[in-house]
Amino acid sequence: MEMFTVMRRQKVAELLEREFQGFQVDSETIPIEEARGRVLSEAIVATENIPPFRRSTVDGYAVCSQDTIGCSETLPAILTIVGETRMGEGTDLSVDAGEAVYVPTGGIVPVGADSICMIEYTEDFQDEVGIQRPMSQLENLVDIGDDVALGDCVLEKGTRIGTQHIGALAALGVHLVPVYHRIRVAIISTGDELVAPGQPVELGQIRDSNTDSLRAMAEALGCEITLVSRIEDEFDAIQQTLEKAVSISDVVMISGGSSVGNHDMTPDIINSLGEPGVLVHGIAIKPGKPTMVAKVRNKAVFGLPGHPASCFIAYKAIVEPFILRDLQGVTKKEFPIMAVSDFQIHVSSGRDVFYMVELRETNKGWLAAPIHGKSGMVTLLSKADGYIEIPMEKEGLQKGEPVAVYRF
Ligand code: AMP
Ligand code: MG
Repeated sequence: MEMFTVMRRQKVAELLEREFQGFQVDSETIPIEEARGRVLSEAIVATENIPPFRRSTVDGYAVCSQDTIGCSETLPAILTIVGETRMGEGTDLSVDAGEAVYVPTGGIVPVGADSICMIEYTEDFQDEVGIQRPMSQLENLVDIGDDVALGDCVLEKGTRIGTQHIGALAALGVHLVPVYHRIRVAIISTGDELVAPGQPVELGQIRDSNTDSLRAMAEALGCEITLVSRIEDEFDAIQQTLEKAVSISDVVMISGGSSVGNHDMTPDIINSLGEPGVLVHGIAIKPGKPTMVAKVRNKAVFGLPGHPASCFIAYKAIVEPFILRDLQGVTKKEFPIMAVSDFQIHVSSGRDVFYMVELRETNKGWLAAPIHGKSGMVTLLSKADGYIEIPMEKEGLQKGEPVAVYRF
């Protein structure tokens, strides 16, 4: 049995960055309705001012603040109402000294006025209005371009478009969004024992869960699935499928057959497709150590462990960052939830340890609790709300220690 040398995760990330530096992902322009989850291939620069006119933030009277100096409820400033502005309509009204114009929230503030007095602090006398509070300049008013100025970079290239960005794009009139083409991903699961989830299981067989698990995760990233295949441990069959997968995809994930055993021939198959082949076999992560990173015909091939929880973590730790960062330039990381550890563990594995946890809400905040169940693959996946990372430099985790939980 040959042993592989284990590489640190940071080194693997650096290697991937080097190897795929020149990898070109084409851009396309898609309707805003389809943009969520995709990555911007160009910065979004404002081609107009927001707001494009001086807007009121309240319902009230646009006035000259000079006219309201010293006024009060008992001694209101009496101004002549010269009209009103309406939503969605332009206006040629102006406000001179001694005048006021009614403006609804979001309405245009006429030329001459420098503030808007909330309706609550006014009193109507037919053609006149009493202003009961002294106004200061720019009070309750958003100036042209105050929110976004013409030429401002609103969203940077490499931004993964979240729900919060959609409204910003719409407001700026960006209804056609420049994004990277969907990353094309192929998924191959290998193992003589594997059965499709819908098939009866005979003694010694298990249901293939990696295929659907990986597909869901890749789809959640906005990838396009080019090929999905479940194959027995047969060199030629796997080789053929892998060959096809590589030709139609940017990234290939092949799970199973990565541990060092008699029937596990994934590394040989990958290498048979050409140079450089397997670059890394063994990463200092736990679980997920037997993960492989390969480059075949300029495409990335990841050999993931068969064990479903290991496969899942290896995908999260290695493949997902590669797809986001190296192929699409996404630099922003997902925000973890800060929780307090409800358990203590000691680790000294020389690897970055990933631990699936359940989140519990308490009156002191979130608690991260371990998931019990012996080696349980299904339990780990079904109960987990997220995972924590204990970097190899750390000895473990104390109960009560703050810990970052990454959600799936
Ligand atoms: P391997 O990496 O092929 O040595 O597989 C390690 C363990 O994971 C074995 O117990 C396999 O039966 C199991 N396994 C491999 N592939 C899958 C899969 N697609 N779905 C569920 N379990 C799997
Ligand atoms: Mg196997």
